[in-house]
Amino acid sequence: MKAILVERFGGPEVLQLKDVPEPTPGPGQAVIRVKAAGVNPADTYVRCGTYAFKPPLPFIPGFDCAGLVESAGPGSRLAPGSRVYAAFAPGGAYAELALVEEARVHPLPQRLSFEQGAAIGVAYATAHRALFHRARAEAGETVLVHGASGGVGLAAVQLARRAGLVVWGSAGTEEGRRLVAANGAHRVLDHGAAGYFDEVQGVDIIVEMLANVNLDRDLRALAPGGRVVVVGSRGRVEIDPRAAMTRDGSILGMSLWNASLEEQAAIHKELAPGFADGSLTPAAGRSFPLSEAAQAHAAVLEPGALGRLVLIP
Ligand code: NAP
Repeated sequence: MKAILVERFGGPEVLQLKDVPEPTPGPGQAVIRVKAAGVNPADTYVRCGTYAFKPPLPFIPGFDCAGLVESAGPGSRLAPGSRVYAAFAPGGAYAELALVEEARVHPLPQRLSFEQGAAIGVAYATAHRALFHRARAEAGETVLVHGASGGVGLAAVQLARRAGLVVWGSAGTEEGRRLVAANGAHRVLDHGAAGYFDEVQGVDIIVEMLANVNLDRDLRALAPGGRVVVVGSRGRVEIDPRAAMTRDGSILGMSLWNASLEEQAAIHKELAPGFADGSLTPAAGRSFPLSEAAQAHAAVLEPGALGRLVLIP
């Protein structure tokens, strides 16, 4: 089968399309015929070899995919041919066939395309865990999704809106801001505009995608008892701890890597009714052929996010 293989850590050029042996599922595993694979920013960090998770070389990158069950291990509950998405599968999704633990395979409703299915895994689990497991968000609270136009941000906007929160979201482009509004945000901010944060006050929860830039001002925008959940950060930052102190504010870290397989499976079970009834609709953005994985890795780090980028084998 064709797959993207990384034989050494490095820049996007190390993503090479190769012929590799087809996987065979063992007990508790399934093989998915991949129709679309999601491109997460984390895929680029793994490719560089600088991330918390450093796979042995060579490896097939990619955590998220959607497709059809090709085969499954003995005693599996998965019917061959059924539509599924796989969430956070470290086995590699940039391939025609992906080997995944069965507990990470979930049904993909007919109303969602494979591209949308590939946009679910990391994004929705991250947004859900940040909002509900870490910040303990409740209906009626105000949340700012600081960086709402990307994969995690749009998922957070939809989840918060569905749970009855007042939702604010930010994006750096006009198209991004339109998308954030269309996904349910009550108020939309331009995080590229000078002084855009001056009016932001009294926020109960901030889901932060770029903490190294925003954490200090986030703390000053919190309501009493407010919490900032750090989802994304690409460097260091100086903060004034007094801003947290005077508000009884909290800074909460969140890494999906810390969620057990059981916790992740439980999250996806909770999400399922929303995908089925239309209250959650994953935003698949630009798509690239599998052979253009390198271009997709360059694109995912550029400004102007509009949902999750996908690769099509
Ligand atoms: P993405 O699809 O590439 O989106 C990036 C988002 O960051 C876009 O909405 C972008 O907005 C926004 N952004 C850019 N400049 C910003 C600024 N100054 N202030 C606030 N937001 C800004 O990435 P993603 O998949 O949504 O992930 C977002 C971040 O979370 C990444 O750093 C990723 O590595 C991290 N992440 C962490 C976990 C975890 O477990 N902790 C899991 C998944 C992702 P514009 O493009 O519109 O400017």
